[in-house]
Amino acid sequence: MQKLQDKYENITFPKIECKDGWYGLLDSGFRSINTSLAMCLTCKISVSSIQSKYGALRVFYSLSKESPGREEEQDECEGYVLDTMTSMEEASQYICETCGTTFNILTPDGYALETICKPCHEGSHKGRLH
Ligand SMILES: [Zn+2]
Repeated sequence: MQKLQDKYENITFPKIECKDGWYGLLDSGFRSINTSLAMCLTCKISVSSIQSKYGALRVFYSLSKESPGREEEQDECEGYVLDTMTSMEEASQYICETCGTTFNILTPDGYALETICKPCHEGSHKGRLH
């Protein structure tokens, strides 16, 4: 996940607590957020943590609006960032956190508290279930 920090130098990622399977998702999400921030110029994002909670991605962040800035532009930027975060969090529920596949995803339940595909699940729990 260090790759993400190297790629988006203007955003600080202090804590990334999810597995590499979600890298592609985070990469495309932060790419669009970065574009929006670059156009707005007066909004700054600060990411406090990126976690995996009950099989879904959770990004904790705050957006600061610096002055002088055009309020309309900043509101638009804020809305765009929120929409992107929301769609990343929704999409994560269908992407294996371990390998990144969207095939054979098991629904998080008592056995798998994370979003994981069948092969990854069987690999990591071999001999423990049934
Ligand atoms: Zn997998």
